[in-house]
Amino acid sequence: MDEHKALSQLQEIDSQVDVLDYREKNLPERNNYLRLKEEVSKIEGLYKAVSKKLHDEALVQKRLEDKLDILSAKIDREQKRLYSGTIKNPKELASIQRELEHLKEQVDNIETDLLGQIDVVDKLKSDSRVIEDRLASKRAELDEAKSRMEEVLADINDKRRFLQAKREPVYASLSEETRELYNRVRIKQPLAVTVLEEGICLGCRVELPSTEAERILSSLRLERCPNCSRVLVKV
Ligand SMILES: [Zn+2]
Repeated sequence: MDEHKALSQLQEIDSQVDVLDYREKNLPERNNYLRLKEEVSKIEGLYKAVSKKLHDEALVQKRLEDKLDILSAKIDREQKRLYSGTIKNPKELASIQRELEHLKEQVDNIETDLLGQIDVVDKLKSDSRVIEDRLASKRAELDEAKSRMEEVLADINDKRRFLQAKREPVYASLSEETRELYNRVRIKQPLAVTVLEEGICLGCRVELPSTEAERILSSLRLERCPNCSRVLVKV
């Protein structure tokens, strides 16, 4: 293959690969996936915090209920003693009655606390359910976004493989020297190969002096733009 033509083809293929690389790096599907991933992780944090709070508040409720059970048992016992008829001493009876009143007062207080605590726990349970639902739907969105991203990435990789296969024979057809030149220029300029059109380098858009342009056009070697150093091919 003519080196000029091959170089031009190589550049075209590599430019297409560059576009794929750029697309891969700036994938909106990836940004969307990462944004959702962050959202899921935030909701997970929130869910964890609410679950912990719910656990703690349920424990407080349980303790109040236990206290209430103990007090109720105590009241039962005292009432049985009071009405058993075995205690005749009026002083002792009066003392039991006082104790009973005191116990009932405690029960009233705890019952009030317990009602408030049940409200707290119920509210947390409902919050937790809402967050759980949000988490499930966000996770589903994340899964979908992940598949979409993977689909696009697979498509990019297919195209890249196709271009690589196309590139191999073109690259192999070049001389060692030309390859080396191309690779060297490509490090600095993604567009390493261009043409002169009416004396203007299409790489840097600079018009070359006519004598220079003529010399380049009639040269048998690969020439480079004196301004931007790109390889100038004749195709
Ligand atoms: Zn140039």
